[in-house]
Amino acid sequence: MSLTFPVINPSDGSTITELENHDSTQWMSALSDAVAAGPSWAAKTPRERSVVLTAIFEALTERAQELAEIIHLEAGKSVAEALGEVAYGAEYFRWFAEEAVRLPGRYGQSPSGIGHIAVTRAPVGPVLAITPWNFPIAMATRKIAPALAAGCPVLVKPASETPLTMVKVGEIIASVFDTFNIPQGLVSIITTTRDAELSAELMADPRLAKVTFTGSTNVGRILVRQSADRLLRTSMELGGNAAFVIDEAADLDEAVSGAIAAKLRNAGQVCIAANRFLVHESRAAQFTSKLATAMQNTPIGPVISARQRDRIAALVDEAITDGARLIIGGEVPDGSGFFYPATILADVPAQSRIVHEEIFGPVATIATFTDLAEGVAQANSTEFGLAAYGFSNNVKATQYMAEHLEAGMVGINRGAISDPAAPFGGIGQSGFGREGGTEGIEEYLSVRYLALP
Ligand code: NAD
Repeated sequence: MSLTFPVINPSDGSTITELENHDSTQWMSALSDAVAAGPSWAAKTPRERSVVLTAIFEALTERAQELAEIIHLEAGKSVAEALGEVAYGAEYFRWFAEEAVRLPGRYGQSPSGIGHIAVTRAPVGPVLAITPWNFPIAMATRKIAPALAAGCPVLVKPASETPLTMVKVGEIIASVFDTFNIPQGLVSIITTTRDAELSAELMADPRLAKVTFTGSTNVGRILVRQSADRLLRTSMELGGNAAFVIDEAADLDEAVSGAIAAKLRNAGQVCIAANRFLVHESRAAQFTSKLATAMQNTPIGPVISARQRDRIAALVDEAITDGARLIIGGEVPDGSGFFYPATILADVPAQSRIVHEEIFGPVATIATFTDLAEGVAQANSTEFGLAAYGFSNNVKATQYMAEHLEAGMVGINRGAISDPAAPFGGIGQSGFGREGGTEGIEEYLSVRYLALP
């Protein structure tokens, strides 16, 4: 394989730069450096670790514009949207700086009276973090920050489509480490297209303690299988197929602005993007026309690659052949760059492939229901379980949706739900493990029980 690989600008298909294509020598030496850096970092006090994390938060915040421009270049989202991602991504360092000093533990008398029970936490050890291209900074910082807070070194393998952001984040973290005299091997960024080789080798090495992955369900399965031989700890943030349920009593303007947030952010390339709009039949025509206007008035950037664009186009074409009605969009525009227009499909047959697969593009599918229980059952008829959304101004209906929508995250009258202070993660084929919240640090800790006199 080649010594370098190109990073492509999805807005025009041009090559931004060529990056060194790391191989075994580099990632094995990164693992050795991580192993060497781990003990002194783990031995620091929680407060010392917290101070370093805060300094990283501040450094990333100071360099937000520069980072956003890199994200814009390699991922295609607008600079304004990229600035939002940088703020969100940096926030994980602030949040976990605050969590680092609150590691859970307990102490008490055994109920039997025989001695005492103390429960503490220890860092799991060196972590491999593999991340996707759709949020080049945030998907990585929500792994790096809790790992560091817990006392673990980290090797980060960003997606080869969008490695430049992480290279810059790596430099920023390195300069903070310099200030605090922390060994550089604590965080390494590995840029490579040899992803299968990397995971096979690192995961077979007994010094690696944990793999945390965000990406497709298929690759997640491969990594979980690979983790079996050494019973490696894993966290899997995988694909989604979110439903967006609009009850009879929903405020349609609120639902439409929620829908825009849940559908068009990052041109729909979001794991918690609303894929399936399920609308009470009495509101469907009005919702569809309001959504069409709003989608047409929202600027949309390119998708990440020609391959992704063609995959989206194929899903839409197949749905139309299945009997779906095209309301807007559906035509790949001429010109350079990997653009796909805002598209709405109504009356999408339940068996159509687009209903069951993650779209990862600016395409909304609409189907109707006659009573809420049926709508929620339709929402739940997916093997995924990452996010779901419910809109209604009727208290009973919101309560019903909150209790019955089956997903790791449920937004009630909210279309934007990501929050570093909340646990992000799914059920079913969307994976396991949580990122963010007080839960997020547990992924990098092991429980230790001390039996005391
Ligand atoms: P992907 O699974 O193709 O790739 C993700 C990462 O895994 C990349 O860094 C890639 O290089 C690497 N990879 C691929 N094969 C590998 C292997 N055999 N061993 C080791 N690493 C390997 O996913 P993608 O196309 O980059 O991202 C889109 C997917 O990510 C979507 O399915 C989306 O839903 C999911 N995603 C999930 C979340 C979440 O939190 N649940 C967040 C964002 C994206």
